This record gives sequence, structure tokens and C-alpha cells, in this order.
Amino acid sequence: MRTRFPFLKSICSPGENHGKKISRRSFLLASAQIAAGVFVPSAVLAIPSEPRPLSFYHTHTGERISIDYSPETYTDSVRRALEYFLRDFRTSEVHRIDRRLLDVLTTIQHYCKSHSCYEVISGYRSAKTNAFLRKKSNGVAKKSYHMQGRAIDIRLAGLDTEVLRDMAVKFNTGGVGFYPKSDFVHIDTGRKRTW
Ligand SMILES: [Zn+2]
Repeated sequence: MRTRFPFLKSICSPGENHGKKISRRSFLLASAQIAAGVFVPSAVLAIPSEPRPLSFYHTHTGERISIDYSPETYTDSVRRALEYFLRDFRTSEVHRIDRRLLDVLTTIQHYCKSHSCYEVISGYRSAKTNAFLRKKSNGVAKKSYHMQGRAIDIRLAGLDTEVLRDMAVKFNTGGVGFYPKSDFVHIDTGRKRTW
């Protein structure tokens, strides 16, 4: 895979992801326990003090990226690599990405005990792309948080997307949207709301 950031290792591939169903039953159980407050007394973000692997596969570009995430290891060069990965793939525009999204994604994986790849459907979106998508679908907001780098559309390999939604609702302080037909979850850092 061609990358401008050779120091970033690629550890997952779409083939691996779809081949494995990583103990869906245990995820469902974990989700039920989280919902019941067994694992987590309150919905707190587990912002890592130790770096944790966080990997992504982009469903549109086919690119992969993996970082060891913690606030300390999220250096400018790592941030730029991830922001390039999450660029508007239609226009190649790159935008600052709200780091709180990474805190949420890391927290979800921490409580799932998952090391799987997040499959990205959409990261940053330029105004032009957002307008284009709005013409095609009425599910696209005019002032989408994607346009501010504050939203991501994802699924997690091996995890039922409905469970991912439940966990996102539990841990994210912003918006969570569930799109079962397209099988992904939207997470943003706006105000708390669900759909
Ligand atoms: Zn979205």
C-alpha cells in the first residue's frame, strides 16, 4: 500500500477482517454488562496513559494506517498522517481531526478487548463533497460535523455494528447515528444526541 508516511506500520487488511468473526457472543455479553454498568461504573473515557494500537482501513481508498495511540504519542507527524488518511478522498483536502474521536474509538476497543481494524467509510468532508452527498441522499446534514473534522463513519471488524452503536452511545459525549442498512455508525463530537 502506497503511503506518504512509511514509519506507520500496516497491521490489518480487509481480507483478515472479513475472515474473522472475533467472538461476537463475547462482545454481546460485554456490551450487555457495560450497559448494566458491570464493567464501567460510569461512562468514562479510558484515555490511554500507555500507548494502545489503533488501526484503520479506509473502505474507499483501500489505505490502511496503524498508530500507537495515547495523548503523548500522538505527535504532530502521527497526527498529520492520520489526517491525511481521513482526508476528503473525493477532493484530497486534508483537515484537522478532533482528537476526542480517537479517545472514543480507543475506549470502545479497550472495553471490547478488541485489536481489530476500524473500517472507515467517511472522515473529513469538504463543503463541496457534503453538498454533493446531500443531493444524493436526504440523510446528510447541511452543517455536518464531518465538515469540521469532528465526525467519523465507521464499523469495527468482527463486531456487530449494533453493539458498536451501543458502546458509542455509552462513551461518546457527542452524537451517535446508526445506519444499519449501510452497516456503519456515525460518531461526532457535537452535542449529545442519537438517531
Ligand atoms: Zn457521518
